[in-house]
Amino acid sequence: MTRVAVVGGGQLARMMAPAATAMGVTLRVLVESPEASAALAAHETVVGLPSDADAVRRLLAEPRPDVVTWEHEHIPDAVFELATQMGVPARPGRDALLFARDKIAMRGRLGELGLPMPAWRPVETEDDVEAFLAVHGGVGVLKTSRGGYDGKGVRMVRHPADADDWLAAAADGGPPLLIEQLVPYARELAIQVARRPSGEVRAWPLVESMQRDGVCSEVIAPAPRLTPAEQAEAESIGRTIAEALDVTGVLAVEMFEVDGRLVINELAMRPHNSGHWSIEGSVTSQFEQHLRAVLDWPLGDTAAIAPVTVMANVLGGSREVLESAWPEVTDPGAKVHLYGKGVRPGRKVGHVTVMGAHLDDVRKRAARVAATVRDGEQS
Ligand code: ADP
Repeated sequence: MTRVAVVGGGQLARMMAPAATAMGVTLRVLVESPEASAALAAHETVVGLPSDADAVRRLLAEPRPDVVTWEHEHIPDAVFELATQMGVPARPGRDALLFARDKIAMRGRLGELGLPMPAWRPVETEDDVEAFLAVHGGVGVLKTSRGGYDGKGVRMVRHPADADDWLAAAADGGPPLLIEQLVPYARELAIQVARRPSGEVRAWPLVESMQRDGVCSEVIAPAPRLTPAEQAEAESIGRTIAEALDVTGVLAVEMFEVDGRLVINELAMRPHNSGHWSIEGSVTSQFEQHLRAVLDWPLGDTAAIAPVTVMANVLGGSREVLESAWPEVTDPGAKVHLYGKGVRPGRKVGHVTVMGAHLDDVRKRAARVAATVRDGEQS
């Protein structure tokens, strides 16, 4: 029996489970608690944190997994060392993962590759910030190099003093900071590619993602008005990064579109929110593809099934409403995914996917069902 070990108990590991079941693969997940999102779906669970060596040993113990992978980038070095000791390939590997965990390392490496990015520099002092603002129109985007997600760790700055508290935290041992040019983008796009160790790479259609309060609210696949040239450029960026950084598994490259050009924002080396549409919307979902890729099995077809697929996130809401929402979902074509997570305002607790022929109609339907799932029946 093929067995894949996964570190992390969130919805990304949870959504690997149905794919694994269909493939005849046993999924063993290291979860933070027995109630974690993935614990409710995985075939085998080990409870513990990635920093707990005993728990990681149990994750990798007999019957030995064929490979260990991750649903997030915060994997301690000791996990890689244990995997090596215990003879379990770790994919994506430590060297690749660094570039998805550390924005300064990522910007530095992508710069060496000559890939399109906003102007940026690491900053340690108010003077650094002032010097950058002076040559970039008096405004910049300050970021923590590590630990940010969903817009936490990103702040617009117009004066060096706007950066004071973060500069102090960084000087005090917190994550280092970088500043970027504020990109006047027309929209945000993402390309996902999968790469297996023996080299095969496949890309999905480029998608558009919309954010609300720094959190992804909606994804449209393929991105509206997508041209073959833009798809080809995005694929080439995804492939270049996957190959140069030796990424195995699924890679998401978040990008800005500015004056018809693509500019890279950031990387994720795992299934990603921008790829949830592929569960129903593509011949091969990102979760199935990630398992195929880390197992070094032939990759599946990434073509879109419908002219338009829209994925709407369910953010926040109340657990009671979420759990009782199903009888209110009267759109027979809407696919609802609930993550079984505790609810907090703005937290991603589920998503809805609708496929069809007409963008406006599909978007409205997805948004309506997501609102019903979150807030109860809509008047
Ligand atoms: P996180 O790691 O928290 O997702 P991101 O780096 O993706 O942070 O930034 C979050 C959001 O902030 C982006 O989706 C985008 O809307 C905005 N943003 C980030 N960098 C820039 C930039 N250089 N110019 C303009 N907007 C940006």
